[in-house]
Amino acid sequence: MKRFHIFCFVLLCFAAFLPGCDEPGKDQMYQVSTLQALMLGLYDGDTTVEQLRQRGNHGIGTFNALHGEMALLEGKVYRVDSDGKVTEVSPETKTPFACVTMFEPDVEYPLSGGRDYEQLKTALDAWLPTTNLPYAVRITGTFQYVKTRSVPKQSKPYPPLAEVAKTQPTFEFENVEGIMLGFRLPEYLAGVNMAGYHLHFLTKDRKGGGHVLEFNASNAVVEADDCTGLFLKLPDAKTFTGVDLSEVKEEDIRAVESTTQPASQPTTQNTE
Ligand SMILES: [Zn+2]
Repeated sequence: MKRFHIFCFVLLCFAAFLPGCDEPGKDQMYQVSTLQALMLGLYDGDTTVEQLRQRGNHGIGTFNALHGEMALLEGKVYRVDSDGKVTEVSPETKTPFACVTMFEPDVEYPLSGGRDYEQLKTALDAWLPTTNLPYAVRITGTFQYVKTRSVPKQSKPYPPLAEVAKTQPTFEFENVEGIMLGFRLPEYLAGVNMAGYHLHFLTKDRKGGGHVLEFNASNAVVEADDCTGLFLKLPDAKTFTGVDLSEVKEEDIRAVESTTQPASQPTTQNTE
């Protein structure tokens, strides 16, 4: 029996290194935690951005204590803080929620002038071959207008995300060059993440950005890459098993991801 256990252990070790078995790489989406857990205030994780970078060169998320919006672009991890400033974070910075992939675009579409976020969604829904796979999406070009938001760093006891979103600072950009990156996820991933589109923005000079609320493209190119696998890293059991995920309401998720009118903070003009 002991010999059998050793055999099983060796087999498992070998399987862990087999290509395709949870291998970081092309077409694998790697996600830390779930959106429902984040909604309930689980704002501290133990995954570092260095670990994220081993899983992808493209992605979005946030940082521990909900300290700003994350954008992983071309291997660099940026924080868009609640004052609108953008900084590259250190490799040991941790995240409670993120979604990344190795971006190797399969398809490319031009996005002509005057297209807004809703029109982009309609166009991409028609262009992409299926709604059943996650797609990593990147939009590069010039934008007549972009409106973004960030989230302020929180202190314990953490309030739920729906409360934080009511005071989110927003930023507006006009005639700006930049890049939007994120995902379009299938309906069946609702709760695990946000179904539909989720994009973060970085200006070309990396001085501004945030979670995209609205935009109007002047001249841009959309690239997309399908994901045929998903690896979900769940939070530490001590916190994750202690929350009631059924408390999260669908309308709260929609409000958090798309609210365009902050309840109490004035809009910050950050035009370039
Ligand atoms: Zn976001």
